[in-house]
Amino acid sequence: MIIVLRPDATEEQVNHIIEKIKSLGLAVHVSKGKERTIIGAIGDESVLEGQPLEILPGVEKVMPILKPYKLVSREFQKEDTIIDVGGVKIGGKEIQIIAGPCSIETKGLLFDAANSVKKAGARLLRGGAFKPRTSPYAFQGLGEEGLKYLWDARKETGMPVVTELMDPRDMDIVYQHTDVIQIGARNMQNFRLLTEVGKMDKPVLLKRGLSATIKEFLMSAEYVAAQGNHKIILCERGIRTFETAVRNTLDLSAVPVLKEETHLPVIVDPSHAVGRWDFVAPLSKAAIAVGADGLMIEVHADPENALCDGAQSLRPDKFVVLMKELKKIAEAVGRTM
Ligand code: PEP
Ligand code: MN
Repeated sequence: MIIVLRPDATEEQVNHIIEKIKSLGLAVHVSKGKERTIIGAIGDESVLEGQPLEILPGVEKVMPILKPYKLVSREFQKEDTIIDVGGVKIGGKEIQIIAGPCSIETKGLLFDAANSVKKAGARLLRGGAFKPRTSPYAFQGLGEEGLKYLWDARKETGMPVVTELMDPRDMDIVYQHTDVIQIGARNMQNFRLLTEVGKMDKPVLLKRGLSATIKEFLMSAEYVAAQGNHKIILCERGIRTFETAVRNTLDLSAVPVLKEETHLPVIVDPSHAVGRWDFVAPLSKAAIAVGADGLMIEVHADPENALCDGAQSLRPDKFVVLMKELKKIAEAVGRTM
């Protein structure tokens, strides 16, 4: 339920409404805009049935939420959410590029990738230490050792870092070594994990599940937001369809749909979508053209010998070329890069 207050609602009236909602067992989220205050009643809306909230002093409009997601919805917050990650703003006019290797393999390789993507203009560094591999026999990531290298690379380059958290048991160690906590596609509906990152004060990069609808994707974001953490970056990374020509099917239409449905920033990961380095550039351009706020791209100094996702990783020199091209697309659609 969203309660829009009158422009002249007094503090006393606002508090009275909040108390009333709380007394019904619902949580309250207050959004104070320039012109109006909006109160969100969070929880099982059925307890509000028969409650004439519209007659409370100070209330202008009461809108039942038809959509199952509330806090992340555009209805709840009209303005785009801009997330500040160590000075890098995601969701504003500027397109942000997150780049780096799929996995952290050695300190040297990570530093090579980090320095080159920084030079090319990427603002955030990615690298996985806990890898969600399909096979239990595949390289699973360096774990804590990898996180330390990532944190060293952050110190060396000054770039904020993004890494995946797969299990709530690794929360402390991941939290200490990252600026953004990534929740991978395979964990998009791991509700315990979402609840835990929702209690944290660091931004969460939530990737769309392999077979998740946009509604399910937004419900997962809502899980995070419901715990109090509203710093959520959504990432479209391709979905599973009948098409087998590429690794996944990049759902570009998800970008405008999400931009309409939610105020959260939306980025695109073309690397995991196509699974081939030579298709990363065209899809990156398309993603920016269609309204994405940024991209996550895998870059590896030596893709041929990469322990994970070498086929879709760009060499640093190719990444430099792509960044130049992306700048032009960004400008053409009224963005900066
Ligand atoms: C990743 O970004 O490292 C990754 C594993 O991606 P996804 O969860 O989208 O498969
Ligand atoms: Mn990968």
